[in-house]
Amino acid sequence: MKTQIISSLIFILGFCLSAQAQLYYMYCGGLIDGKNNKVQTEMTIIIEGNKIVDVRKGYVTAIESAAQEIDLKDKVVMPGLMDMHVHIEHQSSKKRYEEGFRLNEADVALKATTYCEKTLMAGFTTVRDLGGSGVNVSLQKASAAGYIKSPRIYTTEKSIATTGGHADPSNGLRKDLMGDPGPKEGVINSPEDAKKAVRQRYKNGADCIKITATGGVLSVAKDGQGPQFTMEELEAIVETAKDYGMHTAAHAHGAEGMKRAVLAGINSIEHGTFMTEEIMQLMKQKGTYLVATISAGKYVEEKAKIPGFFPDVIVPKALTVGPQIQDTFAKAYKAGVKIAFGTDSGVSPHGDNAKEFLYMTEAGMPAMEAIQSATVTAAELLGVEDKLGSIEAGKLADIIAVNEDPTQNIKTMLNVNFVMKDGVIYKQ
Ligand SMILES: [Zn+2]
Repeated sequence: MKTQIISSLIFILGFCLSAQAQLYYMYCGGLIDGKNNKVQTEMTIIIEGNKIVDVRKGYVTAIESAAQEIDLKDKVVMPGLMDMHVHIEHQSSKKRYEEGFRLNEADVALKATTYCEKTLMAGFTTVRDLGGSGVNVSLQKASAAGYIKSPRIYTTEKSIATTGGHADPSNGLRKDLMGDPGPKEGVINSPEDAKKAVRQRYKNGADCIKITATGGVLSVAKDGQGPQFTMEELEAIVETAKDYGMHTAAHAHGAEGMKRAVLAGINSIEHGTFMTEEIMQLMKQKGTYLVATISAGKYVEEKAKIPGFFPDVIVPKALTVGPQIQDTFAKAYKAGVKIAFGTDSGVSPHGDNAKEFLYMTEAGMPAMEAIQSATVTAAELLGVEDKLGSIEAGKLADIIAVNEDPTQNIKTMLNVNFVMKDGVIYKQ
Protein backbone atom coordinates (compact mmCIF):
# COMPACT_ATOMS: atom_id res chain seq x y z
CA MET A 1 0.00 0.00 0.00
CA LYS A 2 2.78 2.39 1.06
CA THR A 3 4.79 1.69 -2.08
CA GLN A 4 1.65 2.25 -4.14
CA ILE A 5 1.16 5.70 -2.57
CA ILE A 6 4.82 6.58 -3.06
CA SER A 7 4.79 5.50 -6.70
CA SER A 8 1.63 7.55 -7.35
CA LEU A 9 3.27 10.55 -5.72
CA ILE A 10 6.33 10.11 -7.92
CA PHE A 11 4.05 9.83 -10.94
CA ILE A 12 2.21 13.06 -10.03
CA LEU A 13 5.50 14.88 -9.37
CA GLY A 14 6.92 13.65 -12.65
CA PHE A 15 3.78 14.79 -14.46
CA CYS A 16 3.98 18.26 -12.87
CA LEU A 17 7.61 18.62 -13.89
CA SER A 18 7.03 17.47 -17.46
CA ALA A 19 3.96 19.73 -17.74
CA GLN A 20 6.02 22.75 -16.69
CA ALA A 21 5.86 25.33 -19.44
CA GLN A 22 8.93 25.73 -21.65
CA LEU A 23 10.81 28.96 -20.98
CA TYR A 24 12.55 30.78 -23.85
CA TYR A 25 14.81 33.82 -23.95
CA MET A 26 14.64 35.15 -27.49
CA TYR A 27 17.37 37.61 -28.51
CA CYS A 28 16.23 39.96 -31.27
CA GLY A 29 18.69 42.08 -33.28
CA GLY A 30 15.71 44.16 -34.40
CA LEU A 31 12.18 44.15 -33.05
CA ILE A 32 8.96 45.43 -34.60
CA ASP A 33 6.48 44.97 -31.78
CA GLY A 34 3.39 45.94 -33.79
CA LYS A 35 2.63 49.08 -31.79
CA ASN A 36 5.86 51.09 -31.77
CA ASN A 37 6.49 52.78 -35.14
CA LYS A 38 10.25 52.26 -34.89
CA VAL A 39 12.39 49.16 -35.21
CA GLN A 40 13.89 48.66 -31.72
CA THR A 41 17.35 47.08 -31.54
CA GLU A 42 18.91 44.51 -29.19
CA MET A 43 15.82 43.31 -27.36
CA THR A 44 14.94 40.17 -25.40
CA ILE A 45 11.53 38.50 -25.47
CA ILE A 46 10.82 36.09 -22.62
CA ILE A 47 8.29 33.40 -23.45
CA GLU A 48 6.74 30.90 -21.08
CA GLY A 49 4.56 28.17 -22.54
CA ASN A 50 2.36 29.80 -25.16
CA LYS A 51 2.64 33.33 -23.77
CA ILE A 52 4.98 36.29 -23.91
CA VAL A 53 5.78 37.14 -20.29
CA ASP A 54 8.23 40.01 -20.74
CA VAL A 55 9.96 42.18 -23.34
CA ARG A 56 13.22 43.78 -22.17
CA LYS A 57 15.86 46.11 -23.55
CA GLY A 58 19.27 44.55 -24.23
CA TYR A 59 20.23 40.87 -24.32
CA VAL A 60 19.15 39.64 -20.89
CA THR A 61 20.94 36.56 -19.53
CA ALA A 62 18.59 33.78 -18.48
CA ILE A 63 18.74 33.08 -14.76
CA GLU A 64 16.53 29.98 -14.84
CA SER A 65 18.48 26.80 -15.59
CA ALA A 66 15.60 25.36 -17.64
CA ALA A 67 15.48 28.35 -19.99
CA GLN A 68 16.39 27.85 -23.65
CA GLU A 69 17.94 30.61 -25.70
CA ILE A 70 16.82 31.51 -29.22
CA ASP A 71 19.43 33.55 -31.02
CA LEU A 72 17.86 35.93 -33.55
CA LYS A 73 20.52 38.62 -33.09
CA ASP A 74 21.02 38.93 -36.85
CA LYS A 75 17.27 38.99 -37.60
CA VAL A 76 14.35 41.38 -37.35
CA VAL A 77 11.56 39.91 -35.23
CA MET A 78 7.88 40.80 -35.39
CA PRO A 79 4.43 39.48 -34.42
CA GLY A 80 3.06 36.52 -36.39
CA LEU A 81 1.37 37.85 -39.53
CA MET A 82 -2.39 37.73 -39.97
CA ASP A 83 -4.11 37.43 -43.37
CA MET A 84 -7.75 38.55 -43.22
CA HIS A 85 -8.82 37.02 -46.52
CA VAL A 86 -7.89 33.51 -47.56
CA HIS A 87 -9.76 30.49 -48.90
CA ILE A 88 -7.81 27.73 -47.23
CA GLU A 89 -9.71 24.82 -48.84
CA HIS A 90 -8.71 25.44 -52.43
CA GLN A 91 -6.27 26.98 -54.85
CA SER A 92 -6.94 28.25 -58.39
CA SER A 93 -5.82 26.12 -61.28
CA LYS A 94 -7.12 25.08 -64.69
CA LYS A 95 -8.68 22.05 -62.99
CA ARG A 96 -10.39 24.02 -60.23
CA TYR A 97 -13.90 23.90 -61.77
CA GLU A 98 -13.93 20.18 -62.51
CA GLU A 99 -12.50 19.41 -59.06
CA GLY A 100 -15.87 20.45 -57.65
CA PHE A 101 -17.30 17.30 -59.20
CA ARG A 102 -14.47 14.91 -58.50
CA LEU A 103 -13.14 15.56 -55.02
CA ASN A 104 -14.74 14.25 -51.85
CA GLU A 105 -14.55 16.26 -48.66
CA ALA A 106 -11.67 14.16 -47.37
CA ASP A 107 -9.73 14.83 -50.60
CA VAL A 108 -10.31 18.56 -50.19
CA ALA A 109 -9.28 18.45 -46.54
CA LEU A 110 -6.08 16.48 -47.07
CA LYS A 111 -5.01 18.67 -49.96
CA ALA A 112 -5.80 21.77 -47.91
CA THR A 113 -3.43 20.68 -45.13
CA THR A 114 -0.59 21.46 -47.56
CA TYR A 115 -2.01 24.98 -48.05
CA CYS A 116 -2.21 25.41 -44.27
CA GLU A 117 1.44 24.42 -43.87
CA LYS A 118 2.64 26.69 -46.70
CA THR A 119 0.79 29.62 -45.14
CA LEU A 120 2.25 29.02 -41.68
CA MET A 121 5.78 28.62 -43.03
CA ALA A 122 5.40 31.96 -44.85
CA GLY A 123 4.99 33.57 -41.41
CA PHE A 124 1.21 33.80 -41.29
CA THR A 125 0.22 32.45 -37.89
CA THR A 126 -3.43 33.52 -38.16
CA VAL A 127 -5.82 33.61 -41.10
CA ARG A 128 -9.44 34.52 -41.60
CA ASP A 129 -10.98 32.06 -44.04
CA LEU A 130 -13.65 33.82 -46.07
CA GLY A 131 -15.65 30.99 -47.49
CA GLY A 132 -15.52 27.39 -48.55
CA SER A 133 -17.66 24.28 -48.29
CA GLY A 134 -17.48 23.63 -44.55
CA VAL A 135 -14.24 21.64 -44.67
CA ASN A 136 -12.74 24.93 -43.41
CA VAL A 137 -14.43 24.35 -40.03
CA SER A 138 -12.76 20.93 -39.79
CA LEU A 139 -9.41 22.50 -40.71
CA GLN A 140 -9.93 25.12 -38.02
CA LYS A 141 -10.52 22.38 -35.45
CA ALA A 142 -7.58 20.28 -36.65
CA SER A 143 -5.36 23.35 -36.41
CA ALA A 144 -6.54 24.20 -32.89
CA ALA A 145 -6.01 20.57 -31.78
CA GLY A 146 -2.50 20.56 -33.25
CA TYR A 147 -3.20 17.72 -35.74
CA ILE A 148 -1.82 19.77 -38.62
CA LYS A 149 0.81 22.46 -39.15
CA SER A 150 -1.43 25.42 -39.75
CA PRO A 151 -2.14 29.00 -38.88
CA ARG A 152 -4.86 29.63 -36.33
CA ILE A 153 -8.01 29.75 -38.47
CA TYR A 154 -11.06 31.96 -38.05
CA THR A 155 -13.63 30.86 -40.58
CA THR A 156 -16.93 31.94 -42.12
CA GLU A 157 -17.74 28.38 -43.25
CA LYS A 158 -19.86 28.94 -46.40
CA SER A 159 -20.36 32.48 -47.78
CA ILE A 160 -23.91 33.79 -47.87
CA ALA A 161 -25.21 34.68 -51.34
CA THR A 162 -28.51 35.33 -53.13
CA THR A 163 -29.99 33.09 -55.86
CA GLY A 164 -27.69 33.27 -58.89
CA GLY A 165 -25.37 35.62 -56.98
CA HIS A 166 -21.65 35.28 -56.40
CA ALA A 167 -21.19 32.19 -54.15
CA ASP A 168 -24.49 30.52 -55.11
CA PRO A 169 -22.92 27.04 -55.28
CA SER A 170 -25.07 25.93 -58.22
CA ASN A 171 -24.21 28.76 -60.64
CA GLY A 172 -23.46 27.65 -64.17
CA LEU A 173 -24.66 24.06 -63.69
CA ARG A 174 -27.07 22.07 -65.88
CA LYS A 175 -30.67 22.75 -64.79
CA ASP A 176 -31.26 19.30 -63.28
CA LEU A 177 -28.11 19.69 -61.19
CA MET A 178 -28.93 23.24 -60.13
CA GLY A 179 -31.64 22.44 -57.62
CA ASP A 180 -32.75 25.32 -55.43
CA PRO A 181 -30.26 25.91 -52.65
CA GLY A 182 -31.64 27.84 -49.66
CA PRO A 183 -30.52 29.35 -46.36
CA LYS A 184 -29.12 26.01 -45.20
CA GLU A 185 -26.71 26.10 -48.15
CA GLY A 186 -26.10 29.83 -47.64
CA VAL A 187 -28.45 31.15 -50.35
CA ILE A 188 -31.08 33.67 -49.27
CA ASN A 189 -33.92 35.66 -50.80
CA SER A 190 -35.49 37.55 -47.89
CA PRO A 191 -34.61 38.96 -44.46
CA GLU A 192 -36.09 35.80 -42.89
CA ASP A 193 -33.83 33.61 -45.05
CA ALA A 194 -30.94 35.86 -44.08
CA LYS A 195 -31.46 35.26 -40.37
CA LYS A 196 -31.73 31.52 -40.90
CA ALA A 197 -28.58 31.44 -43.04
CA VAL A 198 -26.58 33.29 -40.37
CA ARG A 199 -27.88 31.03 -37.59
CA GLN A 200 -27.09 27.97 -39.69
CA ARG A 201 -23.49 29.18 -40.17
CA TYR A 202 -23.23 29.65 -36.40
CA LYS A 203 -24.55 26.13 -35.86
CA ASN A 204 -22.08 24.76 -38.42
CA GLY A 205 -19.15 26.25 -36.49
CA ALA A 206 -18.47 29.59 -38.23
CA ASP A 207 -16.62 32.31 -36.28
CA CYS A 208 -17.74 35.15 -38.55
CA ILE A 209 -20.03 35.80 -41.52
CA LYS A 210 -19.12 36.51 -45.15
CA ILE A 211 -21.55 37.78 -47.73
CA THR A 212 -21.15 38.48 -51.43
CA ALA A 213 -22.62 41.97 -51.61
CA THR A 214 -22.02 42.28 -55.37
CA GLY A 215 -21.22 40.03 -58.30
CA GLY A 216 -17.76 38.51 -58.39
CA VAL A 217 -15.03 37.60 -60.83
CA LEU A 218 -14.67 33.86 -60.42
CA SER A 219 -18.33 32.80 -60.36
CA VAL A 220 -19.75 31.30 -63.54
CA ALA A 221 -22.12 34.24 -64.02
CA LYS A 222 -22.16 37.34 -66.20
CA ASP A 223 -22.34 40.03 -63.58
CA GLY A 224 -19.25 41.02 -61.62
CA GLN A 225 -20.38 44.26 -60.03
CA GLY A 226 -24.11 44.75 -59.45
CA PRO A 227 -25.68 44.77 -55.97
CA GLN A 228 -27.05 41.38 -54.93
CA PHE A 229 -28.78 41.99 -51.58
CA THR A 230 -31.55 44.36 -50.54
CA MET A 231 -30.97 46.75 -47.65
CA GLU A 232 -33.41 44.74 -45.50
CA GLU A 233 -31.51 41.50 -46.16
CA LEU A 234 -28.18 43.15 -45.29
CA GLU A 235 -29.54 44.59 -42.06
CA ALA A 236 -30.97 41.21 -41.07
CA ILE A 237 -27.57 39.59 -41.64
CA VAL A 238 -25.60 42.16 -39.67
CA GLU A 239 -28.06 42.23 -36.75
CA THR A 240 -28.30 38.45 -36.48
CA ALA A 241 -24.52 38.01 -36.71
CA LYS A 242 -24.08 40.55 -33.89
CA ASP A 243 -26.53 38.61 -31.71
CA TYR A 244 -24.27 35.57 -32.06
CA GLY A 245 -21.05 37.50 -31.44
CA MET A 246 -19.88 37.21 -35.03
CA HIS A 247 -18.43 40.01 -37.15
CA THR A 248 -19.27 40.40 -40.84
CA ALA A 249 -17.30 40.74 -44.07
CA ALA A 250 -18.68 41.74 -47.46
CA HIS A 251 -17.13 40.88 -50.79
CA ALA A 252 -17.83 43.95 -52.96
CA HIS A 253 -16.67 45.22 -56.36
CA GLY A 254 -19.43 47.62 -57.53
CA ALA A 255 -20.30 50.82 -55.66
CA GLU A 256 -24.03 50.36 -55.00
CA GLY A 257 -23.77 46.97 -53.25
CA MET A 258 -20.69 48.19 -51.38
CA LYS A 259 -22.46 51.30 -50.12
CA ARG A 260 -25.46 49.31 -48.94
CA ALA A 261 -23.19 46.91 -47.04
CA VAL A 262 -21.34 49.77 -45.32
CA LEU A 263 -24.63 51.46 -44.39
CA ALA A 264 -25.91 48.16 -42.94
CA GLY A 265 -22.90 48.07 -40.62
CA ILE A 266 -20.69 45.41 -42.22
CA ASN A 267 -17.27 45.28 -40.48
CA SER A 268 -15.06 44.89 -43.53
CA ILE A 269 -15.29 45.47 -47.28
CA GLU A 270 -13.32 42.89 -49.28
CA HIS A 271 -11.67 44.01 -52.57
CA GLY A 272 -13.52 47.36 -52.70
CA THR A 273 -12.76 47.64 -56.40
CA PHE A 274 -15.03 50.48 -57.55
CA MET A 275 -15.19 52.30 -54.23
CA THR A 276 -16.26 55.94 -54.57
CA GLU A 277 -15.12 58.95 -52.55
CA GLU A 278 -18.54 58.95 -50.86
CA ILE A 279 -18.09 55.32 -49.73
CA MET A 280 -14.61 56.07 -48.39
CA GLN A 281 -16.07 58.83 -46.21
CA LEU A 282 -18.88 56.55 -45.06
CA MET A 283 -16.37 53.84 -44.14
CA LYS A 284 -14.37 56.34 -42.09
CA GLN A 285 -17.51 57.41 -40.26
CA LYS A 286 -18.59 53.85 -39.58
CA GLY A 287 -15.13 52.46 -38.84
CA THR A 288 -15.37 49.92 -41.68
CA TYR A 289 -12.11 48.21 -42.68
CA LEU A 290 -10.94 47.72 -46.25
CA VAL A 291 -9.30 44.35 -46.99
CA ALA A 292 -8.05 45.05 -50.49
CA THR A 293 -6.61 41.73 -51.76
CA ILE A 294 -4.42 43.36 -54.42
CA SER A 295 -2.78 39.94 -54.90
CA ALA A 296 -6.07 38.52 -56.23
CA GLY A 297 -6.47 41.41 -58.67
CA LYS A 298 -2.98 40.90 -60.06
CA TYR A 299 -3.42 37.13 -60.26
CA VAL A 300 -6.76 37.06 -62.13
CA GLU A 301 -5.60 39.74 -64.56
CA GLU A 302 -2.49 37.71 -65.39
CA LYS A 303 -4.31 34.37 -65.72
CA ALA A 304 -7.19 35.82 -67.77
CA LYS A 305 -4.65 36.43 -70.54
CA ILE A 306 -3.88 32.68 -70.77
CA PRO A 307 -6.47 31.11 -73.14
CA GLY A 308 -8.57 28.46 -71.38
CA PHE A 309 -7.33 29.13 -67.85
CA PHE A 310 -10.75 30.45 -66.79
CA PRO A 311 -14.19 29.69 -68.30
CA ASP A 312 -15.02 32.29 -71.02
CA VAL A 313 -17.62 34.13 -68.93
CA ILE A 314 -14.96 34.98 -66.33
CA VAL A 315 -12.31 36.50 -68.63
CA PRO A 316 -13.85 39.97 -69.26
CA LYS A 317 -14.68 40.33 -65.56
CA ALA A 318 -11.11 39.47 -64.54
CA LEU A 319 -9.71 42.00 -67.02
CA THR A 320 -11.96 44.83 -65.76
CA VAL A 321 -11.80 44.19 -62.00
CA GLY A 322 -8.22 42.92 -61.65
CA PRO A 323 -6.22 46.02 -62.59
CA GLN A 324 -8.47 48.40 -60.62
CA ILE A 325 -7.91 47.01 -57.11
CA GLN A 326 -4.45 48.46 -56.45
CA ASP A 327 -5.50 51.95 -57.66
CA THR A 328 -8.51 51.96 -55.37
CA PHE A 329 -6.37 50.75 -52.47
CA ALA A 330 -4.04 53.72 -53.01
CA LYS A 331 -6.97 56.17 -52.95
CA ALA A 332 -8.62 54.60 -49.92
CA TYR A 333 -5.35 54.62 -48.00
CA LYS A 334 -4.82 58.30 -48.80
CA ALA A 335 -8.38 59.08 -47.78
CA GLY A 336 -7.70 57.54 -44.36
CA VAL A 337 -9.85 54.39 -44.59
CA LYS A 338 -8.73 51.72 -42.06
CA ILE A 339 -6.81 48.99 -43.86
CA ALA A 340 -6.50 45.36 -42.73
CA PHE A 341 -4.16 43.04 -44.60
CA GLY A 342 -5.72 40.41 -46.87
CA THR A 343 -4.70 38.56 -50.02
CA ASP A 344 -7.53 36.26 -51.18
CA SER A 345 -4.96 33.43 -51.21
CA GLY A 346 -6.63 30.41 -52.74
CA VAL A 347 -7.28 32.65 -55.75
CA SER A 348 -3.52 33.45 -55.75
CA PRO A 349 -1.25 30.63 -54.47
CA HIS A 350 -1.13 29.87 -50.74
CA GLY A 351 2.24 30.74 -49.23
CA ASP A 352 2.68 33.80 -51.48
CA ASN A 353 0.69 35.91 -49.02
CA ALA A 354 3.59 38.28 -48.27
CA LYS A 355 3.59 39.57 -51.88
CA GLU A 356 0.70 41.76 -50.75
CA PHE A 357 3.23 43.81 -48.71
CA LEU A 358 5.06 44.62 -51.96
CA TYR A 359 1.84 45.70 -53.67
CA MET A 360 0.70 47.79 -50.69
CA THR A 361 3.98 49.68 -50.43
CA GLU A 362 4.06 50.08 -54.23
CA ALA A 363 0.69 51.86 -53.84
CA GLY A 364 2.09 54.32 -51.31
CA MET A 365 1.60 52.72 -47.89
CA PRO A 366 4.75 52.88 -45.73
CA ALA A 367 6.19 49.44 -44.86
CA MET A 368 5.63 49.84 -41.12
CA GLU A 369 1.94 50.59 -41.67
CA ALA A 370 1.62 47.62 -44.02
CA ILE A 371 3.07 45.38 -41.29
CA GLN A 372 0.72 46.89 -38.71
CA SER A 373 -2.23 46.19 -41.05
CA ALA A 374 -1.22 42.50 -40.82
CA THR A 375 -0.71 42.53 -37.05
CA VAL A 376 -2.39 45.01 -34.67
CA THR A 377 -5.06 46.16 -37.13
CA ALA A 378 -5.95 42.62 -38.20
CA ALA A 379 -6.25 41.61 -34.54
CA GLU A 380 -8.65 44.54 -33.99
CA LEU A 381 -10.78 43.47 -36.94
CA LEU A 382 -11.02 39.95 -35.48
CA GLY A 383 -11.71 41.36 -32.02
CA VAL A 384 -8.72 39.49 -30.54
CA GLU A 385 -6.43 42.46 -29.84
CA ASP A 386 -6.14 41.31 -26.20
CA LYS A 387 -4.39 38.08 -27.37
CA LEU A 388 -2.77 38.70 -30.75
CA GLY A 389 -1.22 41.30 -33.03
CA SER A 390 1.68 42.63 -30.96
CA ILE A 391 4.72 41.54 -28.98
CA GLU A 392 3.87 42.50 -25.41
CA ALA A 393 3.65 40.76 -22.05
CA GLY A 394 0.43 38.77 -21.81
CA LYS A 395 0.00 38.16 -25.55
CA LEU A 396 0.15 34.74 -27.20
CA ALA A 397 3.62 33.83 -28.45
CA ASP A 398 3.08 34.18 -32.21
CA ILE A 399 6.44 35.46 -33.40
CA ILE A 400 8.32 35.46 -36.72
CA ALA A 401 11.64 36.76 -38.01
CA VAL A 402 13.10 37.99 -41.29
CA ASN A 403 16.68 38.72 -42.41
CA GLU A 404 16.52 42.46 -42.94
CA ASP A 405 14.72 45.54 -41.71
CA PRO A 406 11.52 45.51 -43.82
CA THR A 407 11.23 49.30 -43.58
CA GLN A 408 14.45 49.39 -45.63
CA ASN A 409 13.72 46.39 -47.86
CA ILE A 410 10.13 45.17 -47.91
CA LYS A 411 11.09 42.13 -50.05
CA THR A 412 12.58 40.56 -46.94
CA MET A 413 8.99 39.71 -45.95
CA LEU A 414 9.06 37.05 -48.68
CA ASN A 415 11.73 35.14 -46.73
CA VAL A 416 10.44 34.46 -43.25
CA ASN A 417 12.96 32.18 -41.57
CA PHE A 418 11.67 31.78 -38.05
CA VAL A 419 8.09 30.91 -37.11
CA MET A 420 6.65 30.39 -33.63
CA LYS A 421 2.92 29.93 -33.09
CA ASP A 422 1.40 29.60 -29.65
CA GLY A 423 4.88 29.12 -28.15
CA VAL A 424 5.76 26.24 -30.52
CA ILE A 425 8.62 26.66 -33.01
CA TYR A 426 7.66 25.55 -36.54
CA LYS A 427 10.56 26.98 -38.50
CA GLN A 428 14.07 27.90 -37.38
ZN1 LIG B 1 -12.25 35.71 -51.57
